[in-house]
Amino acid sequence: MSTAEWEDILEQTKLAVLEFAPEISISSIDFEASLIVVYTKDIDYFTDNPNVVKQIAQKIRRRISIRPDPSILMDEEEAKNEIMKIVPPEAGINEIYFEPETCEVVIEADAPGIVIGKEGQLLNEIKKQVKWAPKVVRTPPIKSKTVYETREFLKMHKDERREFLREIGRKLNRPVLKGENWVRVISLGGYREVGRSATLIMTRNSRILVDCGLNTGNVNPEEPWSGIPYLYVPEIWSQDAFINENNPFKYLDAVVLTHAHIDHSGLVPLLYKYNFKGPLYTTPPTRDLAVLLQMDYLKLAHSEGGKVPYDSKDIKEMLKRTITVEYGETTDITPDIRLTFHNAGHILGSSIAHFHIGEGLHNVVITGDIKFEKTWLFNAANNKFPRVETVIIESTYGGKNDFQPSRTEASENLKSIVSNVINRGGKVLVPVFAVGRSQEVMLVLEEYIRTEQLAKIPVYLDGMIWEATAIHAAYPEYLNRDLKERIFKKADNPFLSDIFARVETQEKRHEIINSPDPAVILATSGMMNGGPVMEYFINLAENPKNALLFVGYQAEGTIGRRIQRGEKSITLPYMGKMTNIEINMEIITVEGFSGHADRKQLIQFVTSMHPKPTKIITCHGDNENCEYFAETLMRRYGFDAYAPKNLETLRLF
Ligand SMILES: [Zn+2]
Ligand SMILES: [Zn+2]
Repeated sequence: MSTAEWEDILEQTKLAVLEFAPEISISSIDFEASLIVVYTKDIDYFTDNPNVVKQIAQKIRRRISIRPDPSILMDEEEAKNEIMKIVPPEAGINEIYFEPETCEVVIEADAPGIVIGKEGQLLNEIKKQVKWAPKVVRTPPIKSKTVYETREFLKMHKDERREFLREIGRKLNRPVLKGENWVRVISLGGYREVGRSATLIMTRNSRILVDCGLNTGNVNPEEPWSGIPYLYVPEIWSQDAFINENNPFKYLDAVVLTHAHIDHSGLVPLLYKYNFKGPLYTTPPTRDLAVLLQMDYLKLAHSEGGKVPYDSKDIKEMLKRTITVEYGETTDITPDIRLTFHNAGHILGSSIAHFHIGEGLHNVVITGDIKFEKTWLFNAANNKFPRVETVIIESTYGGKNDFQPSRTEASENLKSIVSNVINRGGKVLVPVFAVGRSQEVMLVLEEYIRTEQLAKIPVYLDGMIWEATAIHAAYPEYLNRDLKERIFKKADNPFLSDIFARVETQEKRHEIINSPDPAVILATSGMMNGGPVMEYFINLAENPKNALLFVGYQAEGTIGRRIQRGEKSITLPYMGKMTNIEINMEIITVEGFSGHADRKQLIQFVTSMHPKPTKIITCHGDNENCEYFAETLMRRYGFDAYAPKNLETLRLF
């Protein structure tokens, strides 16, 4: 009887382990997605000989992890006490929790260095005593409900997850089909438009969907499919599997998510609603933010009485099947495709996805949304790769005159506007998205108030802003270096400045509105189509001392856009009845806070890319912008550039 490919691989691994560590016994060995995990009761041997793991990995040319057999793990309560005994109190341990999925114990402390000890001495002692593998992290400065609930949820489903990861590992190690190799991409959504981003990468052996977004602004009630990608084409939708197993996405290997914005992540749960069982690959912050934004989207859609394509249980299915990958970490996602994420500079956790296809056959980079400038939050997008032939790039600001002021200019403008309004005793209302722009505006205000360039006034945060900020603070390694260092120093953490005050109740909201004192109010939603910002607006609009300050893009058809265009009176539902609002407050737009690269940065990104790509495909921009940007790259810079429409298939190799 012949054995499956994956069985051979596990057998070879076993032999390699016994070759380098002959005196140990192996309890079990299995896959955990692309990783091979060896469980042993003799874990101390590997603690004492850390190089052995590297030698084994080199021999089998795969990623390997050696873990303690669960039977030798110390009881959780006992282990907690033991760790507290080993680590000196100066380390400031705040929390200890266990991740049975990986046999790890996470130690949250104010001073991680002290927990680790000189040359890792204390860590080794912990390992030997409790047998759990210790992972030391700095205590997140702000508690995030989302981060906590995600952790608890995954813990609850650990057995199911282990089984799932094992299954993925076996599939990854299936034999590849031999013969002519080819690579093609299909534009399923978000081409020559913004919203519903989705791209299929297909080879002889694999089908990978990159992003699966929803255009919330464009769901026509007459045509409910207008806001969603073309998921029903035969390359991705199997009608047979749909009829027979209610599993239309059966032949899809995996989904890769570049970032959490709804126009990229909004429809991922729909795949799971239709029984998709494959993995979703994304960075840890994107996982958390996507759940936050998808839940919020559902809430908003329900409150408006709209139909929703899925519900929260589908988001949970997605979460169970999410495999997180850090920037720079390379992982096999199918037998012939290897994925690496790089910083995209756009929002927290946003990534550029690099796909290495075949053994050096072809390399595709999908940028997702990018910012090619250091911002208050992030470093500029990465554009250096080991290899790249094809780039699929966003073109939001690819149009003729799409130039934006720099962050420095934008911040200076913001400062002088706020200063004017405070001086005349007014309030500044800033409609913001909870994720990204809010945190940047917070940082700008904190900087100017701390350095006394602005008077000390309260900055109120209303809506999901605080929770989104907490998620930022939970992943400092995803922020730019200066901000990361300030967050680590705790006392210097800008997000914890006393100028910020959360608004959590209706009473507080009224108190702020009725107070005569100047203030800045950041409130969602960013385009004024609902959310707490509306109540402030309705009550502050009539007083000419106040100002409404736009820092983000206002889409066609939103209330934000109408006000920005100069409408002087507007009728809105308030306290159960339609109310006419006279707009006397000053309406101001500050350009330059966008999370997207402007035209200059887009061109710089491509022309300074290393190595130089041969083919460029533009997407994620209005029809003219995608086309104009592709034309520029072709005519002026000599690239083979093209702006496909949705539903085109391009052969890359
Ligand atoms: Zn985005
Ligand atoms: Zn986008």
